[in-house]
Amino acid sequence: MRTRALVALAVMTIPHQGFAQPATAERPNVVMIYCDDMGYGDLGCFGATAYATPNLDRMAAEGARFTDFYVSSAVCSASRSALMTGCYHERVGIRGALGPKSKVGLAHSETTMAEMFRSAGYATGMAGKWHLGARPSQAPIRHGFDEFLGLPYSGDMWPHHPERPKDYPDLPLIEGDRPAVADVTADVQKSLTTRFAARAVDFIRRKKDGPFFFYLAPNMPHVPLFVRDENAGKSGAGAYGDVIREIDEAVGSILVTLRDEGLDDRTLVVFSSDNGPWLSYGDHGGSAGPLREGKGTSYEGGVRVPFLARWPGRIPAGLVQRQPAATIDLLPTFAAIVGARPPIAAIDGLDVRPLLFGEPDARSPHDALFFYYADGQLQAMRSGPWKLLFPHTTRTMQGQAPGRGGVPGKYRDLPVGLELYDLGADVGESRNLAPERPEVVARLQQSADAMRARLGDRLAGREPAEARPAETATD
Ligand code: MG
Repeated sequence: MRTRALVALAVMTIPHQGFAQPATAERPNVVMIYCDDMGYGDLGCFGATAYATPNLDRMAAEGARFTDFYVSSAVCSASRSALMTGCYHERVGIRGALGPKSKVGLAHSETTMAEMFRSAGYATGMAGKWHLGARPSQAPIRHGFDEFLGLPYSGDMWPHHPERPKDYPDLPLIEGDRPAVADVTADVQKSLTTRFAARAVDFIRRKKDGPFFFYLAPNMPHVPLFVRDENAGKSGAGAYGDVIREIDEAVGSILVTLRDEGLDDRTLVVFSSDNGPWLSYGDHGGSAGPLREGKGTSYEGGVRVPFLARWPGRIPAGLVQRQPAATIDLLPTFAAIVGARPPIAAIDGLDVRPLLFGEPDARSPHDALFFYYADGQLQAMRSGPWKLLFPHTTRTMQGQAPGRGGVPGKYRDLPVGLELYDLGADVGESRNLAPERPEVVARLQQSADAMRARLGDRLAGREPAEARPAETATD
């Protein structure tokens, strides 16, 4: 009788045919850390040498490091919409970086990662930069998070902007959907990385009986750079090094909390960044390491980001995963891990558990990954070792005077042709093989055409058949 009742209960709680819900003990807590404008080369475990990142390096040593991990687009809001929905940003209509006065935000009809976790019985919390809608009706607590402390948009969109101070209203710090601080000052900015991490630690302690999902989105190392006074000068590598050091310290505080609460083996921690380094800021911007260009471009330096994942006992320690994967894959992968129902509407991400768990000979489930930028331009794609860029105009700092001390230099336009690179041999995208390998270009073009039919392409004059609109707030 008892068995039958349990079976009946199990059937009732299986939310979707084919998605057996794992027992609660096997369902991990998830902490997802998503930095702002951190470059591919900014961590010790990704080659940085000017300063130390011991906690992040430990995450890599005890878990997995993905060498070929991508965002949807090399800019804040677009990238975050993809992370939250498992969709290319073009599918959910979020482009660029939303400004304080914009009423555009992520549509409530989209299923966010937080809503997915909540549907599986998880407590959900967030601290940090949201950037998917600035109005109260668009706050994270209206998109599946039980609680939120953070900034509605970027920390440079404030009255102290080095070039356009008059463009921006006071920057609020939001608790729930109301300002906790109406006018964030430089002193408040200095506290934010630590404050957001402290909220994560507090949430973990409160929800330790689990399961829980916490999204920590530090607004650093995006300019303007700030650390606590006692951390200024500690890295020995300038303001940027100090900021990375403080982020590393924040990650350390979370790892220590998980250990102290006995949650290590029951918690998946992932770490990544929303786009590459903002190169016009020079010494206040990060490094793309060996990659070409940075934020705001579809070269690798814009769209390839660091990615770490740690889940002791489940993810092999020291795994180096070289297969391509992307932020769009996290929602469906997490859904599969926790046995949650995936969104009903079409998404672009795929379950990459075999890559995450280091299964032998695991292959990327993507034939190709696509990179849209600006007003719906399909600027580039990655397929196997190949990167193909389509003709468009991008920006570069090559030959330009670099920014200094928080004041940016000026980009110049850079025309991009039809360019094919073999990333296996030429990760810096320096030798265009398009003239030599027309058969590869033709094959990739065919795949791009299929994507153009689905999500459109301004460069090719194609309208999307499947794109869903963002929402405009009425409050
Ligand atoms: Mg960013």
